Amino acid sequence: MPRPEILFALFADLSRLKGIGPRYAKLIEKAAGPKIIDLCWHLPTSVVDRRFSPPIASAPEGRIATITVTVLEHRPGGNRRAPYRVVVEDESAEMDLVYFHVKGDWVEKLLPVGQKRVISGKIERYRDRAQMPHPEHVVVEAEGPSIMTVEPVYPTTEGLPQKTLRRGIEQSLAGLPKLTEWIEPTLMGREMWPAWDEAMRTVHNPALPADIQPDHPARIRLAYDELLSNQLALSLVRARMKRAKGRSLKGDGALRKKVLDALPFKPTGAQLTALAEIEGDMAADTRMLRLLQGDVGSGKTLVALIAMLNAVECGAQAVLMAPTEILARQHFASIEPIARAAGLRVEILTGRDKGKARQEARLRIAEGAAQIAVGTHALFQDGVEFRDLALVIVDEQHRFGVHQRMSLSEKGAGVDTLVMTAYGDLDVSKLDEKPPGRKPIKTNFLSIEHLDRVIDRVAVNLDEGAKIYWVCPLVEESEQSDLMAAEERAATLQRRFGERVAVVHGRMKAAAKDAVMHAFKDGSVDLLVATTVIEVGVDVPAATVMIIEHAERFGLSQLHQLRGRVGRGDRESACLLLYGNPISETGRARLKVMRDTEDGFLIAEEDLRLRGAGEVLGTKQSGLPAFRLVDPEEHVHLLSTARDDARLLLDKDPELEGQRGQAARTLLYLFERDGAVRYLRGA
Ligand code: ADP
Ligand code: MG
Repeated sequence: MPRPEILFALFADLSRLKGIGPRYAKLIEKAAGPKIIDLCWHLPTSVVDRRFSPPIASAPEGRIATITVTVLEHRPGGNRRAPYRVVVEDESAEMDLVYFHVKGDWVEKLLPVGQKRVISGKIERYRDRAQMPHPEHVVVEAEGPSIMTVEPVYPTTEGLPQKTLRRGIEQSLAGLPKLTEWIEPTLMGREMWPAWDEAMRTVHNPALPADIQPDHPARIRLAYDELLSNQLALSLVRARMKRAKGRSLKGDGALRKKVLDALPFKPTGAQLTALAEIEGDMAADTRMLRLLQGDVGSGKTLVALIAMLNAVECGAQAVLMAPTEILARQHFASIEPIARAAGLRVEILTGRDKGKARQEARLRIAEGAAQIAVGTHALFQDGVEFRDLALVIVDEQHRFGVHQRMSLSEKGAGVDTLVMTAYGDLDVSKLDEKPPGRKPIKTNFLSIEHLDRVIDRVAVNLDEGAKIYWVCPLVEESEQSDLMAAEERAATLQRRFGERVAVVHGRMKAAAKDAVMHAFKDGSVDLLVATTVIEVGVDVPAATVMIIEHAERFGLSQLHQLRGRVGRGDRESACLLLYGNPISETGRARLKVMRDTEDGFLIAEEDLRLRGAGEVLGTKQSGLPAFRLVDPEEHVHLLSTARDDARLLLDKDPELEGQRGQAARTLLYLFERDGAVRYLRGA
């Protein structure tokens, strides 16, 4: 089903706008987006309140005022530097309207002597006389009420005046269709939300300054729409994955036994429970779509390996996909020797593997000579074929989008999927127990002013044989500057500790990166200075100290991930969070959370509370397009209602065919979740 006709006008491009030429259309596209609907979604971020209408005599300096005046006299500046003044009056006093750089006679035409005009702008005072530089509005008296309003102010771009942008938005709003309601009637009633088109008009035409606030019912309604469309899309993708016929995988357990017997440790209770759930799903003839949720260091990799062995026992293949090159190699390094000992062949395939070696690896995967493949997104790029892929495991799913995940499952028939991560909307197995013998990580924080003391302490730790991570700050959103900070710090530390210090960052060639990681793991490097490339998955059990510079710039969950790099062996570990001054109240509160708990689930909750839900809701982890109307700080409480509502609707009307169902389809198109609509019958 193509986009419904009722939405055509909203998805037209900007050339439809009257009185706005191609040059401004380009700028509007830059500020808001290429379509009419983008202008509708482009919400004001502040207002100018023009309702204040004092007599000139008592008009306070600095305020915006709208005043009805009579034009008395024009006093052109004479030369270029002196301003052009127009003297006006009301019953109370005279005032000057001041214009700079006037060319031509437009001021004369705008303000004819002897006539009444309504003007609006900021009041200034000069030697006790009121003046108004460049009034923003000058209209005839009859039009006065149209400017004496609360005027929305929009985010714009250089060269695009508010007035022009507003004209475009007003035209877009004029064409809003009436859409059948998709929100459940009782919810609408309880929340007293306006209809969609009314909500759109309200947020763009505030009657009061508070009308543009995120907690206004009209704003909440629109945010809810966006969340609901997102939840519907996720549920549809999920339902279709489940519906697709799966295959029953029940291995004889021989490989699993062999591997488990050879391990130097026993699986934890949590690992065994998760495996039982996963094996149950794999045995069913529907597709598995399960989330393996486990804190850092809880041993997700072992669970993944055992699940893969179950598939291999059935004569099928399994693949493990990681978000980064380092992590893929890490998984390969831990899995391959164990699998080889059990008589299996594991291939690694990343963007870096090229030429003949890559060809051969691909061939072995295609022929089935390799039972297990490990890699990055290079794995799902076209060209890599499997003989019989039955299980896909995706590590740290937040780095991948739903669609990438799916394109890999399409490489086999009825493929089972296991996603390893912290958040999600799938069936969940939890690893809520750490392997035995783990000691708590002693965490502290300290101002970066005490860097010298920290370095002295590092010297002591190194003498005692410690391996230390030193993570450098996120300077900006730029990899380049992260890198400079890391290299600078490494240089400082090298002056003191020489060859024992090495640096690793995202810009390094993969081979160089590996060499450094390897030297840190088993060799001569004891102090590893890193950008956040070590964020995920690196496993160096001998590392016991983690130092994080400018810890206040990291998210709590990120700090937790980083800290999880130590405390993996049986030795005492420590984590030191260095903060820059001045540090905010919240910043300090967050560091305290890190000091006081090691529970990743608790930390994630605190993170939400202290920082807002941006990351959890946003694109970073879901791989879905950014939210346009949802304000993560303000609207996170709507999420669970939207999720329940989406589930209920799909339970009752799985193909969205009823009246509300059809309305919900429109909603999906409205938010351009067209991809999800494709999964519906008759679509
Ligand atoms: P994560 O859940 O963060 O991916 P890993 O799978 O990398 O954790 O496991 C962390 C470390 O714990 C690895 O060195 C792994 O060998 C070890 N490990 C996993 N399971 C157990 C267990 N049951 N007992 C002891 N050590 C374990
Ligand atoms: Mg891991």
